[in-house]
Amino acid sequence: LSGIYQGFLARAEEQPDKTLFHLPGSGTLSYAEVLHTSRRIATKLIGDGVKQGDRVAAQVEKSPEAIALYLATLQIGGVYLPLNTAYTGAEMDYFMSDAAPRVLVCDPSQAADHVQRGRDGIVVETLGTTGEGTLLAAEQEHRDIAQTRPEDPGAILYTSGTTGRSKGAVLTHENLAANCVSLLQTWEFTAEDVLIHALPIFHIHGLFVAVNMTLTAGASMVWLPKFDVADVLDAMTNSAVGATVLMGVPTFYTRLLGSDRLGEDTCSNMRLFVSGSAPLLAADHEAFQARTGHAILERYGMTETGMNTSNPYRGGPRRPGTVGHPLPGVEVRITDRETGEALPQGEVGIIEVRGPNVFAGYWNMPEKTAEEFREDGFFITGDLGTLDEQGYLSIVGRDKDLVISGGFNIYPKEVEGLIDDQPGVTESAVIGVPHPDLGEGLVAVVVPAPEGAPDEAQILGALAGELARFKQPRAVRFVDALPRNVMGKVQKAELRKQYTDLFS
Ligand code: ATP
Ligand code: MG
Repeated sequence: LSGIYQGFLARAEEQPDKTLFHLPGSGTLSYAEVLHTSRRIATKLIGDGVKQGDRVAAQVEKSPEAIALYLATLQIGGVYLPLNTAYTGAEMDYFMSDAAPRVLVCDPSQAADHVQRGRDGIVVETLGTTGEGTLLAAEQEHRDIAQTRPEDPGAILYTSGTTGRSKGAVLTHENLAANCVSLLQTWEFTAEDVLIHALPIFHIHGLFVAVNMTLTAGASMVWLPKFDVADVLDAMTNSAVGATVLMGVPTFYTRLLGSDRLGEDTCSNMRLFVSGSAPLLAADHEAFQARTGHAILERYGMTETGMNTSNPYRGGPRRPGTVGHPLPGVEVRITDRETGEALPQGEVGIIEVRGPNVFAGYWNMPEKTAEEFREDGFFITGDLGTLDEQGYLSIVGRDKDLVISGGFNIYPKEVEGLIDDQPGVTESAVIGVPHPDLGEGLVAVVVPAPEGAPDEAQILGALAGELARFKQPRAVRFVDALPRNVMGKVQKAELRKQYTDLFS
């Protein structure tokens, strides 16, 4: 695969009438129709002065035209820069001054907010969800394809900002294509597949895993504006559409399990359920298998690298609580967090990865980029993990979330797992906050189950028999919900801020 655009174009020429988008309630769009729209958008972008290497920023609602915009940007050699629709004011100012795009495409309702950017030299275009907006004003097709090299940037994606300010990860055409090919192979994804797409498209999961795979395989997608349990179940059971694959974040599965409709019959046409972006609870994995007969396939990736590891599609068990083996072409090693030395199998350390999927660097942050790479080209992910005897990787948390209390390392996930197993607990987050004697003191933040929670003494009592003293929390706090970002990730930095004075 020479590039995502080239892959899509080849499929569109081979099978112009094939459905690319199923739009529940409003028909379908074929490969040829999407190609036509993308070429019209390319005309517009060229007219706006977009040259090879220029950034095209998009903060738009999910629509087929937004995918056509992505394709048009690749076609003309631009660098696609999708932005979370939740970002406002100061956040947008940061992204615009950091990325300095030639064009910003926004929702028509937001155009007035961006007038100033026009004065700053950014061309502001609009795109709505029902075919409206200035971006679609050109009728003519631009057909030339820019000559890009594999190492040229194809996209800049900002990280989710779970641990701090979002960083722009520069992904090359080769990064995107290599990762896509390796996933197509591993998950045996083909033109026969129909993917249920309910993820946002400003993130690696929804855009580069889900959409790139569909476009280059010549497959189809059921295009849902957002995740809704009933809509996803409808898509799974609509025999006219014949959906085969769902890609989701863990909360999709938690919420599907909450519906009485989920069962073996609703999943009988499906061949694969993928989960990633955050840890899937082993209990949800097991419950889903018991209810539907399907073992959810969990994989691990990040904005900077695309996908790194995956549980097996075939030829081995999908192990709950693990993220599987390195994908073809990807190397994974575990190193000591202080010395950087490779660790023996079975020990916990920093996960480092190397391969054609690994990004070129952080936009405008040469020092940060240099810090995160080893001399031999391995990228330091910042996640902590361990490899078992069969080579399955387990993630135990983020390096930044590691708690060091009284000089001892505590991996929050171990403590969280034991708390989550207690009756009356929905979920928990274990964090370290400043402590006068210990450096950091361990705090368990617990979301009680609707039927009522154990109290602090009960929780601590149950842990006393299971954990060494230094791993037992010094305090338990109850909350209605954990702070999460739009990708469903628990924001521990927020929690640390909230409880920072607890022991002072
Ligand atoms: P930031 O880097 O800005 O703090 P972020 O790391 O959450 O935000 P992303 O690149 O969207 O931004 O997320 C990648 C991270 O998500 C990984 O480094 C890892 O911590 C987590 N992750 C992804 N898949 C899984 C998984 N299957 N299990 C556990 N964690 C996962
Ligand atoms: Mg990160």
